[in-house]
Amino acid sequence: MKTAKVAKPYRIDDGKHFRLKNFDPADTGRLHSVDDAKEHLQKGIARMEDLQDKLYAQDCWSLLLIFQAMDAAGKDGTIKHVMSGVNPQGCQVYSFKVPSATELQHDFLWRTTQHLPERGHIGIFNRSYYEEVLVVRVHPKALENEKLPPSLVTKNIWDERFEDIRSFERHMARNGTVIRKFFLHLSKKEQKRRFLARLEEPEKNWKFSAADIHERTYWDDYQKAYEEMIRNTATEHAPWYVIPADNKWFTHLAVSAAIVETLEDLGLNYPKVDAAKRKELQTARQLLEKK
Ligand code: ATP
Ligand code: MG
Repeated sequence: MKTAKVAKPYRIDDGKHFRLKNFDPADTGRLHSVDDAKEHLQKGIARMEDLQDKLYAQDCWSLLLIFQAMDAAGKDGTIKHVMSGVNPQGCQVYSFKVPSATELQHDFLWRTTQHLPERGHIGIFNRSYYEEVLVVRVHPKALENEKLPPSLVTKNIWDERFEDIRSFERHMARNGTVIRKFFLHLSKKEQKRRFLARLEEPEKNWKFSAADIHERTYWDDYQKAYEEMIRNTATEHAPWYVIPADNKWFTHLAVSAAIVETLEDLGLNYPKVDAAKRKELQTARQLLEKK
């Protein structure tokens, strides 16, 4: 099996018929254990390193990776894994929290727009403008905080946001930013197990947050919001990957496979050396050889 193919079954290019219940959070594809996956995990990292080097040298495309998930689904660990394979100089991670007072003075895309990756770079969003159709949809109070003119807040607001997000992503794609979106799909049962581990194991206590337990009571509302989000915003140029998240090793593998698949499809190459550059290299060599 080719490592880059591992992610294919989880890719949604067209959300029209998407149903979350058709995706199993415990799925591990054709692999059964972390030992099975070891070689693929290492290959994925090595391949990513090579492809990122070309992306950077070419300075033309950029890659935006968006991560969304329920608490304890493993966003942080997955991002750490992805980062282990790339040169930090060409990669930046941004985590988006509850919007600040300044951010609330602007439209909902404003704060993320400022952190989009420049050409040649990889940008990782840990949460993103998608929170605007997730937490904000589940908690109407959050929408009230956004200071929108009341006449603009109608029952169509979520469809309007989906449309605006689709347009924004199409604009980015047309300008050379390749967008890949990851929903780390965790089961309610596994979330409970991970929360309990945070309570029981002293080295995990710091991760525990009472607010996370409260959010869990909105589980079904969130699942519905995620499904709607994917149905409405999965496109060929900005697909969602619904990554099984009950087994961390598989999550890491599938995400790195998706990134490798994406970069490979770009046909990246080191910039060609033209006649003038070749001459410059020759002169430099002669100078170095003299002394
Ligand atoms: P994480 O949970 O991603 O590991 P964290 O625990 O370090 O992050 P939190 O304080 O939980 O930090 O930050 C994320 C919180 O901010 C989440 O509850 C998320 O839903 C909320 N948030 C993010 N973007 C928005 C938004 N646009 N509107 C309202 N709330 C948002
Ligand atoms: Mg949190």
